[in-house]
Amino acid sequence: MNRTAWLPSVSAIVQGGVWQLWLPELGGSDWAVSRSFNFGHQVAEVFTRKGSLISGTGSVAAADAPLIGGDVSAIDAWWRGQDTTRAPRWDLYPFAGCAPGFGQLDISFVRLPSPGSEYLDENFRTVSLANSLLQAASNDTKTLVYYDGPVTTAEICGTSGAEPELGGAFGFTFVWLQACQSDLGNAGETARVAAHELLHDLGAEPLSGPPHACPPPSEGHPCESPLDILYPFLSAGATLATATLDVGRDDYYGHSGAWWDVQDSRWLERLPQFPLAVATEGKQGTVVDGTASVACTSACSVATDNGARVTLAAAPRRGASFVGWKGACTGRGPCSLTMDAPKSVTAVFGVAVFSFTVSVNGRGRVTGGGVSCPSRCSGTAAGGARTRLRATPAVGFRFAGWGGDCRGAGACTLSGDRAHRVTARFVRR
Ligand SMILES: [Zn+2]
Repeated sequence: MNRTAWLPSVSAIVQGGVWQLWLPELGGSDWAVSRSFNFGHQVAEVFTRKGSLISGTGSVAAADAPLIGGDVSAIDAWWRGQDTTRAPRWDLYPFAGCAPGFGQLDISFVRLPSPGSEYLDENFRTVSLANSLLQAASNDTKTLVYYDGPVTTAEICGTSGAEPELGGAFGFTFVWLQACQSDLGNAGETARVAAHELLHDLGAEPLSGPPHACPPPSEGHPCESPLDILYPFLSAGATLATATLDVGRDDYYGHSGAWWDVQDSRWLERLPQFPLAVATEGKQGTVVDGTASVACTSACSVATDNGARVTLAAAPRRGASFVGWKGACTGRGPCSLTMDAPKSVTAVFGVAVFSFTVSVNGRGRVTGGGVSCPSRCSGTAAGGARTRLRATPAVGFRFAGWGGDCRGAGACTLSGDRAHRVTARFVRR
């Protein structure tokens, strides 16, 4: 019994537009919070409420956040059950006071600037909402939006763009909570709608290629089986658990055709993930990766995709030097790893050494920095440390001044950030 129509995927939602106010209000889920160790693209969640619908500030949203977390957790488990090598790359962040796992979902609450009537029209709503949420949409993030405002078309459960590569303004997926008898938090119809729309957002299914494509107006869906999660109609009482990810694996996921395959999406983790442990010795520098996702000054650990190529570089502090790698890398060059197992690597930093040479003209002596120099000598000193040289004339001579990297006739202080060359000139009285 089909009762609910899915909207065929809507292509490009919005570009540019007027920024409007948005207010993240769930505990600590600040969009501006910096995140480390992201090897790829994440899916974040936004929960919107139209201002006049709720009385308190954020409290209703706070109550619903665990329901969203529950559904997302169910989608994740379902996905792993359908394909043991993949899972959606959810945006998790260890916010203080949040439970591990899906308690760490990055969920933001956004109070919209306009009344719900402004968002009634289905065709206008996605553009208008995307405009309101644009500021929160980073290009590395697709955004799953649960919208709890009034809708006019109760049979349309969700709407999504179809941009497999793009996040930001082109990566919005909408679930309309006031359509289709929402059962948020039950791993039921609403969870199934969210997974269906996320698949659209990841590029399912292409208009040409899939052998079981539905005829218009349901193009972009497979019509092979109502069990398929991407089937264009939802039966009453449907649950996520009874859905199949691409029945027969020949239309949009894990197929052998030449058209786009959602399984190849960068927004999916490659399982099993492996931990990469990074440490430093000497506390004189930072380990960074090519995309600056890792910036490790002491001890860090990050989960990496199976087969991920990670290149680490050691950046010594000013005045320090990089001595070399230990563990999964050796030598002093960039550390390139293929993550096919748990790996750990340590960057050893040391204090750099710089050299200096001193030339003496006339009769006298230069001392300091471990040298005592009657004519021409050289020494080394610790990097970053200042080295002070003194000139002492021989009997019958006087010190006439420095040359090279020092000037004047006072003390000569070498800055210690590079090699130095100085001369000291003594003349007869
Ligand atoms: Zn659909």
